[in-house]
Amino acid sequence: MSKNILIIEDEKDIIEMLRFNLSKEGFTVSSALSGEEGLRLARSNPPNLILLDLMLPGINGLDICKLLKSDDKTGHIPIVMLTAKDEDIDIVTGLEVGADDYITKPFSPKILIARLRAVLRRHQLKGEEKEPSIKIGSLLIDPGKYTVTLENKNLQLTATEFQLVYTLAKRPGWVFSRTQLVDKIRGEDHIISDRAVDVQIANLRKKLGKFGDYIETVRGAGYKFKEFS
Ligand code: CA
Repeated sequence: MSKNILIIEDEKDIIEMLRFNLSKEGFTVSSALSGEEGLRLARSNPPNLILLDLMLPGINGLDICKLLKSDDKTGHIPIVMLTAKDEDIDIVTGLEVGADDYITKPFSPKILIARLRAVLRRHQLKGEEKEPSIKIGSLLIDPGKYTVTLENKNLQLTATEFQLVYTLAKRPGWVFSRTQLVDKIRGEDHIISDRAVDVQIANLRKKLGKFGDYIETVRGAGYKFKEFS
């Protein structure tokens, strides 16, 4: 079955270049010239992956990413951001709001396709692994559904926050360095700063409410999840 890629990008030349190269590799391609149109397409006919330009007229790419990731119909779709070289802050923000990867313009079609395949593969593995849920009192971490609930209320975690809490809680008492956590959440060799990990952990603690202090800082080493029974 061929995978469908939705391209949200306002530059027609880039869409055509992508369409040409992706079709050649056996993907089917749909495209939208604005974020609004992209949202509509993603909801009506969910693709296997979305290539999302960050600089869009109207609603910008980061907001589109947030909307897609928080929507039940589209939240599971992997998103690869297309960014300019000088958009580092946007890349970090994009990853924080749940984007799965990014590629900077200008890019080689070959590298882009390799990245897309890697994201799709990772995503498929995620779906296939039937990992057990973790329950601590009223907190439930469910890797099958990719959700964390507290007193039966769904906490709105980003994909990265979910990966972090699941990684830590799976091995209570085990100390993870920031570098190890970056590896876990990215699965590849991209560079995310330690500082970005700290920011994510801080957000996560807030969202976990009374369970926030289960994530402990180990001075000079990293983070661990408090042991529970
Ligand atoms: Ca653009």
